[in-house]
Amino acid sequence: MTNNTRKISRNLGLGLDRPIKRRDLLNGMGISAAAIAAYSISGAQASSGTNAGPLIYAPENDPAYYPPARTGLRGSHPGSFEPAHAHAWSGHTWEDTTDLDEEYDLVVVGGGISGLTAAFAYRQKAGPDARILVIDNHDDFGGHAKRVEFTHKGKTYLVPGGSGFMETPYFSEQAKTLLDDIGLNLKNLEAEQVKDLRFHAYDMSPSICFDRETYGRDVTLVDDILPMDTKDEEGNFRLIKHIPNMPLTVAEKKDLHDFLTSDKDVFEGMSLEERKSALHSMSYNTFVTDYCGLSQKAADAIFTRQPGAIVGVTTDCISLYEAISLTRLPGLHVLGDQGRLLQEELDSMPPIEGHYGPEGNAIITRNIVKRLVPSITEAETMEELTTARFDYAKLDDDRSNVRIRLNSIGINIKTIDSGSRVAVTYIRGDKPYRVKARHCIYAGFHMYLPHLCPELPEKQRLALSENVKMPFIAANVFLRNGSPLQELGSASFYFPGRILHECVAWGRSLGKHEQEFDPDEPVVIYMIGPMVGPHTNMDPKDQYRQGRFKLLSMSFEDYEVEVREQLASLFASTSFDVEQDIIGLTINRWPHGYTRQYNTLFDPKYAEGQRPHEIARARFGRIAIANSDASYVALANTAIDEGLRAVNDLLPQTH
Ligand SMILES: Cc1cc2nc3c(=O)[nH]c(=O)nc-3n(C[C@H](O)[C@H](O)[C@H](O)COP(=O)(O)OP(=O)(O)OC[C@H]3O[C@@H](n4cnc5c(N)ncnc54)[C@H](O)[C@@H]3O)c2cc1C
Repeated sequence: MTNNTRKISRNLGLGLDRPIKRRDLLNGMGISAAAIAAYSISGAQASSGTNAGPLIYAPENDPAYYPPARTGLRGSHPGSFEPAHAHAWSGHTWEDTTDLDEEYDLVVVGGGISGLTAAFAYRQKAGPDARILVIDNHDDFGGHAKRVEFTHKGKTYLVPGGSGFMETPYFSEQAKTLLDDIGLNLKNLEAEQVKDLRFHAYDMSPSICFDRETYGRDVTLVDDILPMDTKDEEGNFRLIKHIPNMPLTVAEKKDLHDFLTSDKDVFEGMSLEERKSALHSMSYNTFVTDYCGLSQKAADAIFTRQPGAIVGVTTDCISLYEAISLTRLPGLHVLGDQGRLLQEELDSMPPIEGHYGPEGNAIITRNIVKRLVPSITEAETMEELTTARFDYAKLDDDRSNVRIRLNSIGINIKTIDSGSRVAVTYIRGDKPYRVKARHCIYAGFHMYLPHLCPELPEKQRLALSENVKMPFIAANVFLRNGSPLQELGSASFYFPGRILHECVAWGRSLGKHEQEFDPDEPVVIYMIGPMVGPHTNMDPKDQYRQGRFKLLSMSFEDYEVEVREQLASLFASTSFDVEQDIIGLTINRWPHGYTRQYNTLFDPKYAEGQRPHEIARARFGRIAIANSDASYVALANTAIDEGLRAVNDLLPQTH
């Protein structure tokens, strides 16, 4: 295939016409076509792919109902969000609510790690007779921690739809205890340094791919060059020797070379105070362009998108300090003594290790669900659960004290009966239903809560709406075999020019589940990136709002083109056939992805106790508030901690 083929028609020569597992996306959504149409709002309709077939209503008790095996548009799948958007954006209301004859001790709104943790911990405190209902708007439980399955010739391959791995040493003691209680011991989930996990999959080198759509030609550099501050035995950045092959002009290559080989203190002449302030108030992009002499094009070609998968912004919106310390971009070598001190500080920090199941952090949510609803499978241990097919019909069984109701979008939480109970209204299909409970824990994303619960104090509602989450895309690409990876010698890839910029071949064996790298067997590639920038000069919150619209308005085919173009470029030098070798594709849209994080470039300095997340998560009567949003840290362990805190808010005295 020539350059031209791909430029003339993005759909020609990429294999979009191939029958792959990708577009059975609307089957079994649990919501009618009429319901989706009823809530369609300009600019944010569900994009349901090109070959969307007829909508079939398939309730959870259909034996064929098994969401992990669905492909196509997942994450925020069509049918999971339209009523909420209609409600929040245009004040849509529903009439004729059905009051169900159901009374609970606790209703949890949101069945991600945090909400499921809360349900589990509440039952631990209140006792096994506690009646608990968890509702979630998706067709599967888990929130970002969802499992995606591909099957080929009878063998199942697992990959996360979103949340990937648990990071230590961040886990609190109480979060570790929770994991123990659900049968997950971090020690049993072999740890790997996150560096290795993200950049050295299957013991192969990482690579940087300059794709032809962005850079005019395909260039893939394969070496131990990620993270980008990696040095060789002589103490030189490993990137340096690859500069000649980068698609840059001679002058740009020289500037990049000068920056990476310099030992000049670029802040020379600044006072200590000015230097400290610059670290936190200057963007990394300003640093490399204004202080280190790189052209914007050279900076973009290599550094700009790199922090995205970790902090959800490009280098123009991240401080110099965070770019260096969190995302490991080069810079300390041109900061003189200050750089040396900072390097010592970073070297003294404990290494971050990643623990993960074959399905990523869905191993947490599946283990909690097993403990909440034991009849869902006969499997017991973490290892057995990995290969178990859950019986979704058991999730919402009226004989069980704990029920998990999917395809149900909470639209109202209200204190009733003089404050002695809470009523929760949700939409299922296109009909509103109401249940009552002694307590409610909201474990969905915070932005929506002011619409759900107008009775919250104004200050709290404002703080909740401050949490504009990062829009993320996570693609799972199922390749016919691993040969192209072996030929390239790489299994983790960075694309400086693309949205899905961080990619890794995913695989882990556990119990009877085997998923090791074999060049002759299929392999799953996990690709992620935030829908942001670069160079918007906007507060990240505004970028996230804008990115969310873009994310929802792109069709499955748009994403498929992205993925195919990227892989065609990456594997251009191998036997990979972009038309034939992709045998399955799932696009997980996360319009409300990582929780917002504080950003020293854009956020004011808040007084202790007055930070938006602290105001937002305050208990309100019988309603407590969980979710990782309650911490402003986008990690599985914070989702657990906040679920536990919400239970403590409601049941402080119980042990
Ligand atoms: C692509 C991606 C990759 C990630 N990778 C990692 C990783 O590797 N490691 C890590 O530690 N963290 C990772 N994270 C962060 C992730 O957010 C946390 O790990 C964790 O999964 C968050 O759990 P949560 O329960 O707080 O929120 P969520 O997972 O968002 O769960 C909340 C649930 O509530 C539902 N909900 C919201 N409103 C309503 C309503 N009104 N009615 C009913 N249901 C509602 C939501 O749709 C969702 O299902 C990743 C996130 C994303 C998006």
